[in-house]
Amino acid sequence: MFKKVFVANRGEIALRIIRSCKELGLSTVIGFSEADRESIPVQLADEKICLGPAPASESYLNIPSIVGAIEITKAQAVHPGYGFLSENIQFVEICEASGIVFIGPTSKNIQLMGDKALARKTAKSCKVPVIPGYEESVLKEALAHAKKIGFPVIIKASAGGGGRGMRKVNSAEEFTKYWNTCQEEAKVSFGEGALYVEKFLERPRHIEIQLIGDKRGKIIVFPERDCSIQRRHQKLIEESPSPSVNEKLRRKLYRYAYRLAKQIKYQSTGTIEFLVDSDGRPYFIEMNTRIQVEHPITEIVSGIDLVKHQILVARGDRLNFSQKDITIKGHAIECRINAEDPLNNFMPSPGKITKLILPGGPGIRIDTHIYEGYTIPPFYDSLIVKLIAYGINRAEAIERMQRALEEIRIEGIKTTIPLYKRIFEHPTFLSGRYSTKWLENFLASESVSEQSRNAH
Ligand code: ADP
Repeated sequence: MFKKVFVANRGEIALRIIRSCKELGLSTVIGFSEADRESIPVQLADEKICLGPAPASESYLNIPSIVGAIEITKAQAVHPGYGFLSENIQFVEICEASGIVFIGPTSKNIQLMGDKALARKTAKSCKVPVIPGYEESVLKEALAHAKKIGFPVIIKASAGGGGRGMRKVNSAEEFTKYWNTCQEEAKVSFGEGALYVEKFLERPRHIEIQLIGDKRGKIIVFPERDCSIQRRHQKLIEESPSPSVNEKLRRKLYRYAYRLAKQIKYQSTGTIEFLVDSDGRPYFIEMNTRIQVEHPITEIVSGIDLVKHQILVARGDRLNFSQKDITIKGHAIECRINAEDPLNNFMPSPGKITKLILPGGPGIRIDTHIYEGYTIPPFYDSLIVKLIAYGINRAEAIERMQRALEEIRIEGIKTTIPLYKRIFEHPTFLSGRYSTKWLENFLASESVSEQSRNAH
């Protein structure tokens, strides 16, 4: 049984992990980069150790440095958070071989699901529907399948993630033209060039099912999250439950997610992602084998602390609740507030926070590592605050989010708050009838009206 947990991450998720560890009576060590010395998680962990210089490749992705730091500090377990090493098979294998408990799934789980083409095959093998497509990375055959499925299709990197490594193609000519570029890009970004193909769905919704499994094979699934508000395939706003999912579809998604997790003997928290087409048909797209950014909305509607249970199952504990305990208690929405300028093509906006007022009151949860006077370093992703609003129903959650967006003040840097204010007033968002295309269209129409305003 472990008593000391090494936190191999930074920012809000490092703080989130430290909080659960403290509640469980576990001591924490944080490994940090030189750029994060002044951060709140570094101040709040019981021990701290510098991993190296600011660039992630020299600190948060530096496996020898992290393993060395775990050994020096005598931590017995490591929590990877999300991003960085959270789905790195090599790191997990090193932990497994050296007796360090990895607070996450097994390396086998990650192997089966980390490769998205292989994950599709696994889904098919347990009769979970996938989008019509082709998994083998062979140009000639992939093109023949693309023609059969019909354009547009999407070429995806098997090792891709974070909304990167995919391209929509509209014709056979484009397919041949982009295949090699996609392969080169995939090699550079993910260290591996394998590609696969899927039919491109025009107006899908991104619906995902959170789950948790313990070492004895028990799997619990949670109410869906709708993550269709995206820019460049990256999620900006998530809500649970989805305004577009009825009980029948929910049950179907539960069955698919359960079946897939059971098939691979999944242990830990994980998420099965689906696209739902305009006729309401769900298709598996991939699994994230880690805790996700948007986990708090599920914690709110289910009442289950996911990070705490993730740690407990890694320790070998049985899940002490059952599927019938999981009901939907109200409605929760999250805005990912990024240090980016929405009026300037979402350009990153690191720098010093000169003034900070955070909202509070009924139905507001804030997960953040920032404080007044804190300088956001330019080296990492731009998420600075997860603003979460909840209420007895969607209308109340939205009212509270609108109120919180009015209250919040972050000065000194640009943030995505002004964009969220506009989204939370928009009739399409308020109606709940939006697809993954909606935000891009909205941003394009805003920039057209901006240009015509400037022209007059
Ligand atoms: P990543 O692993 O990079 O997150 P995903 O496969 O999960 O990539 O897809 C991310 C997003 O890209 C989806 O939520 C959706 O908006 C878009 N997308 C992925 N596959 C398709 C598809 N076949 N048709 C239309 N959009 C898609």
